[in-house]
Amino acid sequence: MNIPVNTPLIGEKEKIYLMDCLDSGWVGSDGKYVTLFENAMSSYVDRKFGISVSNGSAALDVALRALQLEPGDEVIVPTFTIISPVQSIITAGAIPVFVDSNPITYSLDVSKIEKKISSKTKAIIAVHIYGFPCDMDPIMEIAKKHSLFVIEDAAEMHGQEYKSKKCGSFGLASIFSFFPNKHITTGEGGMIMTDDSSFAERCRYYKNLCFNSERRFVHHDLGWNYRMSNIQAALGLGQLETISEKIKIKREVGKFYYNQFKQFELFELQPLKTEYSENIFWVNTIVLKDDFPYDAKWFMDQLNILGIGTRPFFYCMHLQPVLKKLIENSNYEIGEFSVAEKIMNRGFYIPSGLGLTLEELNYISNSVEKIYKSV
Ligand SMILES: *Cc1c(COP(=O)(O)O)cnc(C)c1O
Repeated sequence: MNIPVNTPLIGEKEKIYLMDCLDSGWVGSDGKYVTLFENAMSSYVDRKFGISVSNGSAALDVALRALQLEPGDEVIVPTFTIISPVQSIITAGAIPVFVDSNPITYSLDVSKIEKKISSKTKAIIAVHIYGFPCDMDPIMEIAKKHSLFVIEDAAEMHGQEYKSKKCGSFGLASIFSFFPNKHITTGEGGMIMTDDSSFAERCRYYKNLCFNSERRFVHHDLGWNYRMSNIQAALGLGQLETISEKIKIKREVGKFYYNQFKQFELFELQPLKTEYSENIFWVNTIVLKDDFPYDAKWFMDQLNILGIGTRPFFYCMHLQPVLKKLIENSNYEIGEFSVAEKIMNRGFYIPSGLGLTLEELNYISNSVEKIYKSV
């Protein structure tokens, strides 16, 4: 067997839209599918505006830039995350301020946010990790109290809800990614969602080289070409039409693994639900408890020998070599990021793609069991 950690599911509708797009000749970023996909996403997420871009990291770059931060401004972000939001904060000229993870959801620990707020804090990026969103009610409350912007990084949360409200509909803006391992894909792609028309306008400006309506090729600002193509949008529109089936599959796979592994005492599994959300199982995580004699790397190596793809967890931002200067200037307390550091060393995820077959699922679960019982 050779089972990759992710396999997307591409349906018939996608092929129809893609062929139509190719036949029309509109393969660049002008074309009806871009607008159709933006509108379909906005109505799905309950937002007024959707601004498509070339990937999720680009969406963060544009959204952070559109906040119009000043040098020295601070933005709260989890240490346990992909680098994209942190990179975008720095690109926008601001300083990322890291917060530890919640031990159950692995997303931002809301109880640790307030002591990180200073007079320079301008925003919180609520990065929803793996299966559960951040606890949004307290985040919105803190933001209101201190007049901070909230940006949701919902790149892993298409269709997820926090207390029956769609992820991506909180705060000033949110971003999504459509990379092939996300719930729906455009190959590469991303989107910024907002209800604020002037923020949306600024996003469109920055993602499109800051062209303006007065005189083309005269520029007052520097931006990027982060446009999404009509080809990508055609794929995305087809993908979005069957998103509820995809989420159903994700949750079924998650429950399957959960039931297979729940009796393994040295595994820490994420729950099926918390008081505010049902696990959407973007990926299926295993954290090895301290009593398990080996680390995550060892377990992943054993699975790799059996042809099963895995991924390690994110690597904490406060330990990143590339952020050395920033880290040196910050006085982190010992143990400040103990949850994030632990899951980083002890956690990994197993194949979680939408294309997994029952045979593959059984093979993976039997292999995990065999390795677990061999120690
Ligand atoms: C995937 C992801 C991104 C980046 O999206 P890309 O499209 O890969 O650039 C950003 N944030 C989170 C939480 C992600 O999972």
